[in-house]
Amino acid sequence: MVHAIKAGLLIDGQGGDPIEDAVLLIEGNTITTAGPAASINIPAGAKITDAAGKTMMPGLIDVHVHVTSMSVDLEQRLNTPKAVSYYHAANNLKRTLNAGFTTVRDAGGADAGIRHALEIGLISGPRLVVSGSIGHTGGLMEMRFPSGAQIVDDAAWRICDGVDDVRKTVRMALREGVDFIKIFATGGIVAPQGSPFIAEWSPSELAVIVEEAKRHGAGVMVHAESADGIKNALRAGVTSIEHGNVLDQEAIDLFLDTGTFLVPTLHFPKVLSDKRDRLNLSEASKKKGRQLAEAEKGWFRRACEAGVKIALGTDAFIAELHGRNGVELSLMMEKGGLSAMEVIVAGTKNAAACCLLAEQLGTLEAGKLADLLLVTGNPLDDIAILQNPERITVYKDGALVQ
Ligand SMILES: [Zn+2]
Repeated sequence: MVHAIKAGLLIDGQGGDPIEDAVLLIEGNTITTAGPAASINIPAGAKITDAAGKTMMPGLIDVHVHVTSMSVDLEQRLNTPKAVSYYHAANNLKRTLNAGFTTVRDAGGADAGIRHALEIGLISGPRLVVSGSIGHTGGLMEMRFPSGAQIVDDAAWRICDGVDDVRKTVRMALREGVDFIKIFATGGIVAPQGSPFIAEWSPSELAVIVEEAKRHGAGVMVHAESADGIKNALRAGVTSIEHGNVLDQEAIDLFLDTGTFLVPTLHFPKVLSDKRDRLNLSEASKKKGRQLAEAEKGWFRRACEAGVKIALGTDAFIAELHGRNGVELSLMMEKGGLSAMEVIVAGTKNAAACCLLAEQLGTLEAGKLADLLLVTGNPLDDIAILQNPERITVYKDGALVQ
């Protein structure tokens, strides 16, 4: 049966002017047409949903979450049994879907089993794109501490070095059914070793990671916080750069030349900086954090002004961020100087392409899957509306999410 949804305003995710008084038709789980009501015939017998006072828009997509993670506190994480983290994931996924996010890409933690549980309806949540992480000796991934102690978990933290070893390790990750390989092209703040200002991987290792992933139809998502690592990854042909805090003009030019997505992940660092004093970070980590904050000033805005393609990602890593993904839209406007329409595109069309799902998702047009939102009010006038689940009715695969 055809399902017709009438809405007062249609934002289709393409970035053009919104359409007033619109109709969208769904058959099964697929959109068959969308546009001005005057141009669309609603077939006799169609089920009609009248949302005249609402805005219809694509389901939102967050391309950087960690649905199994509840805390940055290492001791707490190490004391959480894996099964418990799966129950947390089920909760977090449900909250995320209710917040209007119909697809998420997990940047480390969720495996293909959680994706499978969603697909067979065992748990409810967004479509889930999963990644497998690999790192090298002495890099951000390797959990080795100044005491000499090291956390070893071959499934969660795969460490490899040199082209042949890296190729085999990528294949081992892909064998588990992941959609993306996640790597780290610079260090970070929290890990005892490395730094956001030191590049990881050699160009030949990066090349083989991208080659193997692409050959299997997978993407490569890259944690990278400063320009040298970012540029190495962009030259290798990765799918997206996560964080991308410190750039230079050459990096911006490479983003533009390659069309690679920048995922600025503004929400998580903001929450962390608000409560930095209460976090159990080492002095070395705090120092790296201060240096990064100083160096990153203004680069995200310059990237936006230059026209770098942006995709929405929150880095939801702690309990309070799951289901609060819509805050990222407001932060991208504030920090990047983007318009409400531009951040909606970052969270729909661009985010779908960043997940390698542009053909199925991200815009409301014929042939796409019917993942959509009916929103009370107009998010173009007030983007913060999209932080309030009570104002959002969610449809996924053409079906109303209860
Ligand atoms: Zn992350």
